[in-house]
Formats: sequence, C-alpha cells, structure tokens
Amino acid sequence: KPTVLLVIGMAGSGKTTLMQRLNAHLHAEKKPPYVLNFDPAVANLPYTANIDIRDTVKYKEVMKQYNMGPNGGILTSLNLFTTKFDQVLNLVDKRAPNLDYVLVDTPGQIEVFTWSASGTIITEALAASYPTVVVYVVDTPRSASPATFISNMLYACSIMYKTKLPFILAFNKVDVKPHDFAVEWMTDFEAFQEAARQDTTYMASLTASMSLVLEEFYKTLRVAGLSAISGQGMDGFFQAVDEAVDEYWTEYLPALNKTM
Ligand code: GDP
Ligand code: MG
Repeated sequence: KPTVLLVIGMAGSGKTTLMQRLNAHLHAEKKPPYVLNFDPAVANLPYTANIDIRDTVKYKEVMKQYNMGPNGGILTSLNLFTTKFDQVLNLVDKRAPNLDYVLVDTPGQIEVFTWSASGTIITEALAASYPTVVVYVVDTPRSASPATFISNMLYACSIMYKTKLPFILAFNKVDVKPHDFAVEWMTDFEAFQEAARQDTTYMASLTASMSLVLEEFYKTLRVAGLSAISGQGMDGFFQAVDEAVDEYWTEYLPALNKTM
C-alpha cells in the first residue's frame, strides 16, 4: 500500500515548495507519486497535480456566490470538494497498486484544514485506507525566537493529539538557518529555558511553562531538517517517513480497529 504524506503547516512555511521537492525526488528515484492538491486558493502550482481541487471548485466564484471573504471562501470550497471525496478515494484506490507514495498539499491557512470538519473527514478517510503520516512543515528561520518556536510547537502538538497519526516535524528552509537550535531546545530543557530567559516580553514566563508541557510531546516526535529549495535533508526525511509508517501499522491501525 502507498504511504500518504499529508503536508500541513503555517502559511508560508513551504508546503507547496516541499511538495514540488518531494515530487522531483521521488521521480528521480523512479517512484513517481500520486499528487493531490487540496488548496483551492493557490494561484500557481510548481508541480503537476493528479487531482486538483481547483478543477472541481472555483474559490473566487464561491466567494462571490456566498458573499464571503477569503477564509470563508477557502473553507466552503473545501467543504464542497469533500462532498465528493469518495470519488477522490476511488481514483487513488485504482492507482494504489502501482504507487509507493501519495502526496497531499493542504490550504495555505493551516486552520482551514486542521480545525474543519472537512479536513477531519479527509484525514480520517485517507488514514483508514492507507498508512498516513502528517508532515508538519516548520519555517525554521521564523521559529528562531523562543516565543515563535513554542507557539509553533503547541500548534503541532494539538494537531498530533487531534489526528493521533504518526507525525514528522519537518524543519524547512535549513538553507537559510540550520535547525540545530531547534533540536537542542527540544532535547535540552535547560538550553530552552536559558534562551527563554533572554526574552523580556510578557511571553517569557508563558513560554517557559509551556516548554514543560511539551517535553512529553517532543519524546514521541520524529524530526527532520530539510530545504525544499536546495533539496538537502531528503534522505533523513524519508528515513523518518519509514519509521512513521511502522508506527502507523503498530499503533495507529490497531487503535483504530479497536474503536470500530
Ligand atoms: P506554503 O504556503 O506553505 O505552501 O508555502 P510556499 O511553498 O508557497 O512557500 C512560501 C515561501 O517560502 C516561498 O517564497 C518559497 O520560495 C519559500 N520557501 C519554501 N521552502 C523554502 C526553503 O527550503 N528555503 C527557502 N530559502 N525558502 C523556501
Ligand atoms: Mg501552499
């Protein structure tokens, strides 16, 4: 069965660019993936999608028709698309025997996917059929301050607990800033506390207490540093994917079967 990589992350973290990189990498490895775009509002895709939500719903027309702003338009487009998701699954099922990977790009605004009924339906439908891994893309240069780092980690943590799926933190843009500071903060509690003490804003004490909560989360995580632009870090990333797929079979699926 192919592995589904569900690419999630804050707007601008590099999801779409990473899709392009993974697509190119897998083509070079002679394992061409099946590629799905679920972002209705993206203007240009740097990769060719096998299934593109924009072929089904025109987000600008949805905005006009329902008199909505951009976020409402994106959410409503995703909802309309999800009503036909069985057809998407059928297409994936047909191709599945010849596939190693299915790549899924999600809307720029993270909450549209992670906190909507449609996002949940899509995620659960994929995960019920295929080993599915959440690739949480982090903008590493923009997470270099303790406060932004911890907010991003809390967001990631909440998504991991919501989906219960195997999870990879993909620290992107390491061509601009290496992610070693992040690894240090996640493994050395004192190092993070020390960095947080340099922060003189009101966030400092909140940040310091939050990091206690996150210690447990960090232990269950896989981390990969990569650059969607330069392509560095791909081997480490796919190693993390292999481990995550093992976790799907040994933990996610048995737990899912118990609830059915
Ligand atoms: P998305 O909103 O998460 O889909 O993000 P995009 O893929 O559209 O990327 C947002 C911006 O980050 C674009 O200007 C990309 O060129 C840039 N970007 C993405 N990945 C990288 C990377 O690995 N390194 C650098 N330097 N820039 C990147
Ligand atoms: Mg995008």
